[in-house]
Amino acid sequence: MSIRTRFAPSPTGYMHIGNLRTALWAYLIAKKDPEGVFILRIEDTDQGRLVEGATDIIYNTMKECGLKHDEGPDVGGPVGPYVQSERVKSGLYMDYAKKLIKCGGAHYCFCNEETIAAQRAEHEASGQDIKFIDPCKNLSLEEAEARIAAGEPFVIRQTIPAEGTTSFDDEVFGHIEVDNSILDEQVLIKSDGFPTYNFANVIDDHLMGITDVVRGMEYLSSTPKYNLIYDAFGWEKPRYIHCPPVMKDEHNKLSKRNGDASFQDLMAKGYLPEAVLNYIAMLGWSPENNQEIFTLDELVQAFNVKHIGQNGAIFDPVKLTSVNGLWLRGMDLDHYYELTKEYIRSAVKGDFDLKKIAAVVQQRANTLQEIAPMLDFFDVFPEYSNDLYINKKMKTTPEVALESLKACLTLLEGLEPWNAEVLHEKLMELPAQLGKKNGQVLFPLRVAITGKQSTPGGAIELADIFGKEETLRRLRSSIAQLENA
Ligand code: GLU
Repeated sequence: MSIRTRFAPSPTGYMHIGNLRTALWAYLIAKKDPEGVFILRIEDTDQGRLVEGATDIIYNTMKECGLKHDEGPDVGGPVGPYVQSERVKSGLYMDYAKKLIKCGGAHYCFCNEETIAAQRAEHEASGQDIKFIDPCKNLSLEEAEARIAAGEPFVIRQTIPAEGTTSFDDEVFGHIEVDNSILDEQVLIKSDGFPTYNFANVIDDHLMGITDVVRGMEYLSSTPKYNLIYDAFGWEKPRYIHCPPVMKDEHNKLSKRNGDASFQDLMAKGYLPEAVLNYIAMLGWSPENNQEIFTLDELVQAFNVKHIGQNGAIFDPVKLTSVNGLWLRGMDLDHYYELTKEYIRSAVKGDFDLKKIAAVVQQRANTLQEIAPMLDFFDVFPEYSNDLYINKKMKTTPEVALESLKACLTLLEGLEPWNAEVLHEKLMELPAQLGKKNGQVLFPLRVAITGKQSTPGGAIELADIFGKEETLRRLRSSIAQLENA
């Protein structure tokens, strides 16, 4: 049987990083099987929590990331509809709830809020789990149906066996076994006729043929209850892959409420979708080797549920930034230029070859947002202090710099033609002629034409981009500044 997984978000706002990682892992697990199917299901039965536009964010995010679903609301499929509110309309959850009542897995409940709260408080006070054991489950079906016919409001609750244990083997958390006596007789169908998540997810996973349920570990403790429903129907249970949380730090989960970055925020900050996916795949999962950079296809090959850890994984923006930088540097120049030219143009209005600027900035920028601030020395030649020439590693001082720069000026004034190859050839001969180290010539030259100690690109590349006239203008001005010191 081929693998079928689903990503089942609730459209309650933005796509947080933990959600996206769940989607990614579910995708990888499906795609590892050449016949595998990845499904998108929108879980919108909690109408009070819906946020307008949230479904579009889900579609857009998945599209941007290349997490293409094979079945879902927008692409259809054999087991739709794929939006729970549409499924509600067909009455299917109510039908299954009634079947479950017949199988002994559920019952009608007429208790009011106070009765329930009082019992929960009692359980809590005696040190037990805050569960509710419903006295209504002792009503006969005829009695219950008569009360419903008389117009009494009701919900449908799960019936939990009073004794015994329920167990399952989670792919990540191993063997889980609980006493039935601690399980809550939770609501399956609310008084408005809507199913709860707790019921709808079981029915849908079954009807959609889901083989592997991939979701956050907050559902781990409810899974025994879901399994009791599968058992009552006599249905085959799926494999479970409960995912450890994505953390902000050791104690706090990543969350929008704390202002932590969403996927959209990361895009706005200049990260690449490929890099974000690459990084978050490894939040809680580690590949067998030390490979760090994975395309989505490579992730499909490398991913293995066995190597998901149980501990929450901390989302480290510094690490993400470095992975993003590796992605940017790994692109071919044409692609990189297309991606970055607007960012470069925002900082460089002058008549320079933007593609050459892209080539130097590519070696240094870790995010798209870092690009513009790195290029602040093209349109203006910044004021700077001669102290910039002091560099221990390069063994330079303003005195050394002045000697080197004068020699550079003589050389460059006579240089024809002006291009990177010729600049390279001639400037690389100069240190030996002067009895200096490379850095004692090229570092001062870079400072002299940029007014900065660190820049994307070296003296040769930058002189090429500036052109002869601008390079000589800056160089002469810097020599004068040293001579006047
Ligand atoms: N709608 C649930 C959520 O967004 C999905 C849980 C599940 O995957 O079963 O958390």
